[in-house]
Order: sequence, then structure tokens, then C-alpha cells
Amino acid sequence: MEQRLFGRTGIRVPVIGQGTWLLEKDRAQAVTALRRGFDLGMTHIDTAEMYGSGAVEEIVGEAIAGRRDEVFLVSKVVPQNASRQGTIRACERSLRRLGTDSLDCYLLHWPGNHPLAETIAAFEHLTRDGKIKRWGVSNFDEEDLEEVVRLAGPGRVACNQVLYHLGERAIEHYVLPACERHGVAVVGYSPFGQGRFKPPRVLDEIARARGAPPRQVALAFLTRHPVTFAIPKAGQIAHVEENAGAGALRLTDEEIRRIDQAFPAGRPRRRSLPTL
Ligand code: NAP
Repeated sequence: MEQRLFGRTGIRVPVIGQGTWLLEKDRAQAVTALRRGFDLGMTHIDTAEMYGSGAVEEIVGEAIAGRRDEVFLVSKVVPQNASRQGTIRACERSLRRLGTDSLDCYLLHWPGNHPLAETIAAFEHLTRDGKIKRWGVSNFDEEDLEEVVRLAGPGRVACNQVLYHLGERAIEHYVLPACERHGVAVVGYSPFGQGRFKPPRVLDEIARARGAPPRQVALAFLTRHPVTFAIPKAGQIAHVEENAGAGALRLTDEEIRRIDQAFPAGRPRRRSLPTL
């Protein structure tokens, strides 16, 4: 599993991690699947207080019990809770459900109505208290990102987690370059379009030639840029195992060109990132 620097944090994180949205449906299988992922190097775990209204954080807590040191653990505060005090209380609730005393990264799930400066103040407070190691944002477009960097100062925003799959490459126009400019890692969520992904012909052809499944080719494409990471969610062990294999797959320039042609990045738009 390739690891790469996570923005300017100085920490190396696996390029392929594990999402956890909707993982609450089969708790025992979810725990086994996550642990299988850890064994294969997918130790970047993305969760959120919102997922299963806290139930998913409890599942993640069970999966990381006894293995906390192996894991880069990320959770998120919903914007409604992201006031100065609300963020701190939400983080403490997440820590209890996860059975840990600190998060590796804590994100604002999407831009909301509480002043961003308050959320940042709470994140910095939590960092000083050792409850989070670093913080970031999610679903921030270029303008939102410029604003959070302006308020927080350089080098404070670890990542921006955004929608990114072959059918939705909007971030490549402005968000990804802005993240790169500011040393912010780009974590692509829903890399399989939330399960709607159907491997098209060009991926099948590349996959056959490389002896790799088409979804590995898709993940390799989405992580071809050195600031990007992907966090597919898989409740089934066979899927976990397949996804982990993408962490060692490097596409050639010609393969990238063919995929780029088949799935064009679309028209540039600066504002309002698409979300699922
Ligand atoms: P996704 O990862 O694009 O797709 C998940 C679906 O793909 C599941 O149905 C899964 O099936 C299936 N799948 C996974 N690997 C597969 C494989 N190798 N072969 C066939 N099917 C496979 O969708 P997502 O859950 O929306 O996104 C991933 C993660 O990103 C989330 O879980 C969450 O952590 C994060 N996310 C963040 C935001 C945000 O606003 N920040 C929004 C959405 C998602 P099984 O489960 O049956 O294995």
C-alpha cells in the first residue's frame, strides 16, 4: 500500500483508505471488513458523527480496539453542531463512541451557518487539549477554502474531503489546484459514485491488460495526483481486498490519457461543489 504525505502535516497516510457511511447495516461483518482492511494497509478510516447517528462511530470503535496505533482516524462534526462550544462537545461525544482519547484529524462536514472562525477556534482548542491531532474541512469549494486558509493561517488546514469519481471530476478545475497551492490534502469520497459505478469498456480493457480489476484501475486514476487520496466504502470483505490492491497500482501516462478521454472532467465551475 502506497503511503503519501497528507498535505503539510508531515504524516504519511495510505492512498486508499476506508469509508464507513452506511456501514451500520451488519455490525459484525463491518468490524471484520474494517479489520481486514487494516491488515491490507487501508488504515485511513473516515467516519462521522452523522453516520448512523453515531452507530457507525461505535462500530469503528470496536474495529480499532487494540489497534488504535495502526490507524489514521478521521471523524467529522455536522455544521449544525459546529459552534465554538458545540464542536468541542461533538468531538467529545465522538471520542467516547470511538473509544479513543484523540482523533488524527477532525473535519467540518460541510460549510454551515456557524461562523467559520468559531469552528476554527474550537478545532484549535481541541488540538491544544490533545483531543485532535489536526483538523480539516469537507465539501469546501475554492472560495470556501481560500476563506478558511485566510482565517486559520497557512499550514493549519490538513485536508479537504470532496466528491470525486470518474463521472464527477469537477474538483480538478479549481478545488484541487487551490488545495495544492495551500498544501491541503484532497481526500476523494464516493470513488464509486456510492455504488452506482459500472465499469465501462475502457476500464475493462486496461484492467484486462494489467491483470487488475476495473475498480482498482478507477481508484488508481483517482489517486494519480500526488495530493489525492481515496476512501472507498466496502462492507464486503471481497470488496475490501479488491480495493486494497489499488494501493500498489500505477497507471501509465497512456492509460491515464485514455481514461481522461472517456470521462472528461467537464465544464469548469468555481462555486458550489456537487455533493452526494
Ligand atoms: P463509494 O465508496 O463510492 O461506494 C460504496 C459502494 O460501493 C458500496 O455499495 C460497496 O459495496 C461498493 N463497493 C466498494 N468496493 C467495491 C468493489 N471492489 N466492488 C464492487 N463494489 C464495491 O460510496 P460512499 O460510501 O458514498 O463513499 C465512500 C466514503 O466516503 C463514505 O463511506 C464516507 O466515509 C465518505 N463520504 C463522505 C462524504 C462527505 O460529505 N464528506 C459524503 C459521502 C461519502 P459493499 O458495501 O457491499 O461492499
